Amino acid sequence: MLCMILDKDETKPRPAFICDYCNKEITDARYTIYTWKVSRETEEITDGKIYTLHKGICDKAMTDSDNKHRRSLFRWDWGDLIWLPRDLTYSLNLLWDEAQEKKLLITEEEEKQMQTIQEKLLEWENSIEE
Ligand SMILES: [Zn+2]
Repeated sequence: MLCMILDKDETKPRPAFICDYCNKEITDARYTIYTWKVSRETEEITDGKIYTLHKGICDKAMTDSDNKHRRSLFRWDWGDLIWLPRDLTYSLNLLWDEAQEKKLLITEEEEKQMQTIQEKLLEWENSIEE
């Protein structure tokens, strides 16, 4: 699961993946999978929820039983976590180089428009409260 956690000095919140089996932070994508449930009957993704698991003990404990026993209504499909950032940049319509440089594809004009919309929303919310 993706969570906000505090950094080691406990001052700055940051997003981090937590193992859905052992609940410890995932600190190395090379030894991690992301996985989701697929219906055995229809071959469709069941609820779309993505789980992240350490490779080895954690992923075996969570997925082996459903994957090996045909009586389970679903099986777990999976990918290596190292590919998730790349796939997300596609889903979010970001370019990888720009994501790496921490630049979004938002122009100054678009940012001003978003600020204006947020200010108008705030004004509207305040007017309702009065
Ligand atoms: Zn784990």
